[in-house]
Amino acid sequence: MPRGDGLLNHDLLPGEKGPQDACGVFGVWAPGEAVAKLTYFGLYALQHRGQESAGIAVSNGSQILVFKDMGLVSQVFDETSLGSLRGHIAVGHARYSTTGASVWENAQPTFRATAHGSIALGHNGNLVNTVELTELVAALADRREAADADARARNGDSGRNGHARRAPHLAATNDTDLITALLAGQTDDDGKPLGVEQAAPLVLPEVKGAFSLVFMDEHTLYAARDPQGIRPLVLGRLERGWVVASETAALDICGASFIREIEPGEMVAIDEGGLRSTRFAEAKPKGCVFEYVYLARPDTDIAGRNVYLSRVEMGRKLAAEAPADADLVIATPESGTPAAIGYAEASGIPYGSGLVKNSYVGRTFIQPSQTIRQLGIRLKLNPLKEVIRGKRLVVVDDSIVRGNTQRALVRMLREAGAAEVHVRISSPPIKWPCFFGIDFANRAELIANGLSVEEIGKSLGADSLAYISTDAMIEATTIAKPNLCRACFDGEYPMPLPDPELLGKHLLEPEAAEGAQSDVDGVPTLAAGPGGADALRRP
Ligand code: 5GP
Ligand code: MG
Repeated sequence: MPRGDGLLNHDLLPGEKGPQDACGVFGVWAPGEAVAKLTYFGLYALQHRGQESAGIAVSNGSQILVFKDMGLVSQVFDETSLGSLRGHIAVGHARYSTTGASVWENAQPTFRATAHGSIALGHNGNLVNTVELTELVAALADRREAADADARARNGDSGRNGHARRAPHLAATNDTDLITALLAGQTDDDGKPLGVEQAAPLVLPEVKGAFSLVFMDEHTLYAARDPQGIRPLVLGRLERGWVVASETAALDICGASFIREIEPGEMVAIDEGGLRSTRFAEAKPKGCVFEYVYLARPDTDIAGRNVYLSRVEMGRKLAAEAPADADLVIATPESGTPAAIGYAEASGIPYGSGLVKNSYVGRTFIQPSQTIRQLGIRLKLNPLKEVIRGKRLVVVDDSIVRGNTQRALVRMLREAGAAEVHVRISSPPIKWPCFFGIDFANRAELIANGLSVEEIGKSLGADSLAYISTDAMIEATTIAKPNLCRACFDGEYPMPLPDPELLGKHLLEPEAAEGAQSDVDGVPTLAAGPGGADALRRP
């Protein structure tokens, strides 16, 4: 149902990047319930995880229907479309990507026919062995073709349909669809097609990277999580059914009670026979620390720890590590608010609202061009001049990626009459790209790459800048350090990464440093290393 071709396609450099998603997934098995509507509200609660496309697949026991399109959950679905999605099992997906393939074809759930019916699948995360998986899919297709040729030889058939049969296996265009293709196309040793539940234990151990999956065939809802459990995935109970979701907040919103996490390396299957749990790999927990810092909703719990409390504690620790002489602590709303509350509490400096946010403007990260990003910040945040004028401010935010938000903010606050602006960040400098589902841009675009904290502060125009330490951030989550992925901060990746070539980019290679000679906005020229080279010239 491709309605709005090109709609919301922000991509300016098509094909430059491989698909990278930080998404929301939701699944429900509940006979007698309006499962499409439950999924709609579940996705609504997960909208912050992905705003480019949304989709729901529903099974009525004999057939799966998929409806997906570009746009927000509320833009994609209406009463009519939801009303047409009747059944007792559903999986849904809200997608965020900045890839060249921000198009309907790559919206999820993905769908494929199998020998036994069909499969629909939604994925949150990002895979790191896409090349290997592509080869596995090709090998499957070859085996299938050989089997078909055998059958044709036995039947004396000329085989004109061979390509039509093979095509579905080769249509994979992104990492998610590779999983779907592999689950759909497994056979046993005699070449007999396997069902999804039998195929999964063969396929999932081959998949490397971050994957929180919800999928289904006509009869069964499945959920699986990578052995590191990098992205969250939880199980909930309805009065008459089961729910799986990226975040506990999505369980709350549809009236489901939290049962437990889907364990790292676990797959669950849910149907009228109840819930079956199997392990396809040993658990080696490496939850993403950035979920606590920024990605997840504050009202979500991950690995038993509430996200809001983690952020407040990060703010408290930040105040202890990086005090400031100031009159007022303000937050960069919304995501910086809990840390600002913690900072104010621990420092004794009053907390106030210094910026009003228009919540109806999407996250600025969603739009890939620098120009639009800059506009986005102005559209989104407006300073409260009466509060700010003449004050020495501490401005707290959860993170600095490219530095655009804080640079625009410092300028706006000064224009509004702030006497001093001290920027405090509740996560350490982001220096390394994420291969597991966050599109942080490449190393060259990360401002902390190549500039010291002091230099970054200058480039932002702040009177001072400080970040929390990695250890204090981790302590605030209460999760043991070895069980967290902190790669974006310390470069320690939770699994071996293939050759950067095979990741489709040169992300791990230092970029050639361009000189940053010009004197912009009175900011003095600094010798910037790789990555920060153009930071001083940005608006
Ligand atoms: P910057 O403006 O420095 O490029 O980005 C930092 C701002 O973006 C912060 O205010 C932070 O809340 C937000 N941010 C950090 N990481 C992400 C992300 O992965 N996605 C989105 N949408 N926003 C992010
Ligand atoms: Mg923010």
